[in-house]
Amino acid sequence: MTLLTCRNYINGQWVDATTGNILESYNPALINEVVATFPRSQTEDVDKAVAAARQAYSSWRKVPAPTRAEYIFRVGELLLQHKEELAQLISREMGKPLTEGRGDVQEGIDCAFYSAGEGRRLFGLTTPSEMPNKFAMTVRMPIGVCALITPWNFPVAIPCWKAMPALVCGNTVILKPAEDTPACATKLIEIFAAAGLPAGVINLVHGVGEEVGKALVEHPNVDLVSFTGSSETGAFVGATCGRTHKRVCLEMGGKNAQVVMEDADLGLALDGAVWGAFGTTGQRCTATSRLILHRDIKEKFTAMLYERVSKLRLGAGNDPNTEIGPIINQKQLQRVNEYMNIAREEGAKILIGGGIASEGQLKEGNFFLPTILDNVTPDMRVAREEIFGPVVALIEINSFEEAIAILNDTNYGLSSSIYTRDINRAFTAMRDIEAGITYINGPTIGAEVHLPFGGVKQTGNGHREAGSTALDVFTEWKSVYVDF
Ligand code: NAD
Repeated sequence: MTLLTCRNYINGQWVDATTGNILESYNPALINEVVATFPRSQTEDVDKAVAAARQAYSSWRKVPAPTRAEYIFRVGELLLQHKEELAQLISREMGKPLTEGRGDVQEGIDCAFYSAGEGRRLFGLTTPSEMPNKFAMTVRMPIGVCALITPWNFPVAIPCWKAMPALVCGNTVILKPAEDTPACATKLIEIFAAAGLPAGVINLVHGVGEEVGKALVEHPNVDLVSFTGSSETGAFVGATCGRTHKRVCLEMGGKNAQVVMEDADLGLALDGAVWGAFGTTGQRCTATSRLILHRDIKEKFTAMLYERVSKLRLGAGNDPNTEIGPIINQKQLQRVNEYMNIAREEGAKILIGGGIASEGQLKEGNFFLPTILDNVTPDMRVAREEIFGPVVALIEINSFEEAIAILNDTNYGLSSSIYTRDINRAFTAMRDIEAGITYINGPTIGAEVHLPFGGVKQTGNGHREAGSTALDVFTEWKSVYVDF
């Protein structure tokens, strides 16, 4: 397998970092296979990228928005051309099954064409003035230099959904990708570069979060930080941006629940639960990690779930038979495993799975067995903390009201789902669930790029990326008065 050498991309050039320190990413399905090397960049590299982005901003902001959008349209076309190659790389470096890798890239493509359209829709408002012979209106202004700090679980889609609207709105950007997926980020930025964006408009700085990420967040010449990642890191990013007077958009963790009521279509609810809990090996911010089951169907539904989970096929992302890929890295594998001890100590019952896979080829990767935890109560840590692995907790309820109360009894509020045939319950749930996204008769995962994406409570800080609401993240309003 080819070993990729990743470099930083600053001011339109592929460059080495200031220090010669090199880090590696590897295939989580085959941990001895190094996928890429990448530089451990330092503050000096961040300074150079910020200076380039600042310099480019002065002219990029004046390029007409429809023209800026044409570059992003071109990025979409190039992503389409390179879709398979990128999907293969995602599977190899991040581990998700190839079909999901293709979905990851497709999200980037959809986002490109949607964002490109926004270039012709950066509408402001005109409004009557209180005064005669005066015109009053609002216009959207870019913000400046944006630092985009991204996780590894959607290594193409998430950088796209941040960079594309940011650029169309007239900002310049610096991407700091996750340490686990530097090659995906490099290939993506190669595509942005091939679209002909002027030097300095998009920059890439590899490295460690506590070094490069921190330097960006603290940098006096960065105007906005758009962060997606864990709540712990998000708290640091938010606090630092507050201290240094930056705009900040935070997208963090989730503890998403799917409710199955006694009147639900159980086959449909089962498909939703399996995909929601085990898709992307449970490593989605929107993953279903709690299944809230009405007592009348709990036994039957649990048996159906057990049957399906027992047949899930674990394997490498690029094996077409794989349904469940590996966990991203050793640290996260151990963390998921530790939750099994916590579950046992708290009195939960491991129905299936519950450990690191140790058979055959699976031993060579970070594989965790798909796990169902039964007898879970809402106060347990496994019902409250984000595990970020193929683990789902079953919670029994007696009524619709109890289901909604338990669903809402969490510090997070990203995605949610309820399966019921009762339209009154469906609308009540839509109104009363405290989450950024609610699915009725659908799994907790599967957001579309043209709708707002984000969560309430500790999941976010009130912003919504994706969709037209991304414009509110990446622009600010100016009120203009014209006397005539
Ligand atoms: P993480 O917080 O460890 O890392 C995210 C990014 O932050 C990485 O690029 C990392 O290098 C960087 N970083 C780390 N420390 C930093 C610091 N001190 N200063 C600045 N940057 C720093 O998260 P992860 O493990 O990569 O991703 C998994 C988490 O992301 C989960 O909690 C998941 O729920 C969340 N997530 C949320 C969404 C959402 O939209 N809400 C989407 C995907 C993932």
